[in-house]
Amino acid sequence: MIVGHTPQSTEAEFNEIVANAQDTFQEWQNVPISQKVRYMLKYQQLLKDNQKDIAAMITHEHGKSLVDSEGDVFRGFEVVEHACSFGSLSMGETVENVATGVDIYSYRKPLGVVGGICPFNFPAMIPLWMYPLAITLGNTVVLKPSEKVPGTAEILIDLLAESGVPNGVVNVVQGGKDTVTQMCTHPDIKAVSFVGGNQAGEYIYKTASNHGKRAQVNMGAKNHAIVMPDADKEDTINALIGACFGSTGQRCMAISVAVMVGDTQDWIPEIVKRTKGLTIGPGEENKDIAPMNTRAALERAENIIATSESNGSKILLDGRKPKVPGYEDGYWIGPTIIDHAEPGMPAYDDEIFAPVMIIVRSNSLNEAIKLINSNKYGNGVAIFTRSGNAARKFQHEIEAGQVGINLPIPVPLPMFSFTGNKASMWGTSNFYGKGAVSFYTQWKTITSRWKEDDAAAMTLQTHFPTMK
Ligand code: NAD
Repeated sequence: MIVGHTPQSTEAEFNEIVANAQDTFQEWQNVPISQKVRYMLKYQQLLKDNQKDIAAMITHEHGKSLVDSEGDVFRGFEVVEHACSFGSLSMGETVENVATGVDIYSYRKPLGVVGGICPFNFPAMIPLWMYPLAITLGNTVVLKPSEKVPGTAEILIDLLAESGVPNGVVNVVQGGKDTVTQMCTHPDIKAVSFVGGNQAGEYIYKTASNHGKRAQVNMGAKNHAIVMPDADKEDTINALIGACFGSTGQRCMAISVAVMVGDTQDWIPEIVKRTKGLTIGPGEENKDIAPMNTRAALERAENIIATSESNGSKILLDGRKPKVPGYEDGYWIGPTIIDHAEPGMPAYDDEIFAPVMIIVRSNSLNEAIKLINSNKYGNGVAIFTRSGNAARKFQHEIEAGQVGINLPIPVPLPMFSFTGNKASMWGTSNFYGKGAVSFYTQWKTITSRWKEDDAAAMTLQTHFPTMK
């Protein structure tokens, strides 16, 4: 069923939008921070008041369950709440009296027009990781939603206007790769924030950087969970299944690899049994597994599962081509569990982004840590154990940037930053938290001298000045 069409903006339209954002920046940068925070206070309330309507649009165009869509909005307005603390987080630095009558102080200044490029999987949360923070810091924004979910951002920006933020502060542009390239090369765009897959992310990072822009790109993942023999069995199995299959596996922080250490390999039949109980159906019915977002994504997942059979893995639960009465043409794939996978196999190496759990068997914590650290991605990771010693060793030695201890999806709250690393994040400033403040501002540092009226005049000198 076609639920909508996304237009591809022309280059002329794109240039007009950037010019509008550039004009608006001249005034917006001078709006006092306290007023900008007041807009954000109003905005977060409007998002809460409209959470169900926004969620309905997400479910309509993305397919995820309504309850999951509400979570998408919730995690987004938490970021707007964080923007309300930017009065203090955007403060500069001063040192008085660095020499007689001389002070140095620095301000965090906005960059100008900044761009945001979003993926399909969190149509509300990820745009909200970007523009509320960028604009509270004084920038104006050109935002490109995913062409697969263009409608949610339009609602978000209508609500922004209702909160009082002037037109032109955030500008939505619809389109695909052409628009991305325009964003990464336009001289008036000073920085690009991107969230999505590695192919696009690496292209965007390189193109934006080559055009003198700042770039922060959050990309793909392969998140492992280590299950230790002393873990709480009930708790761990529920956490693994929820984190792997929730949102149809279309989350960058989904657990996609379970590393079963030692005797926990005996728990595998129980994992399979409980996973079989998950329900499949349309997002509106709030079943456990909703449809995949596109046919291409579905077919890609099915193909990777097919390769795992020929590579010697064992498919313990095969979710391909489930029957969902009344919705025979939907992009369905049920929960799938593949055992005995290992590096070198596409099912292990590639991000599948579907409800597929890969099981790897391991003899020890050391072996499991080594396996995970040799993976190119570094988004999220988890351990399940009752041992403080094992947990501490794990948190200390593991390379991935977001670590869960007895928690499967360790997405940091917005007072922290989203700290994926390795092939999951390129750039030096992370999304939200203090990272957003450094990404969306540049320092201006002033050295000023005010001498007493009767103090001696400066002596003429041509050597490099030193402070005394
Ligand atoms: P995607 O890379 O296909 O698309 C993301 C954006 O890039 C879209 O706006 C799209 O128009 C654009 N785009 C797509 N292909 C492009 C290309 N070749 N050149 C230039 N631009 C291009 O990603 P997606 O399928 O929408 O989202 C899923 C991916 O996003 C997964 O890899 C997931 O792990 C990742 N993701 C990462 C995080 C994170 O924080 N690390 C969060 C959410 C999603």
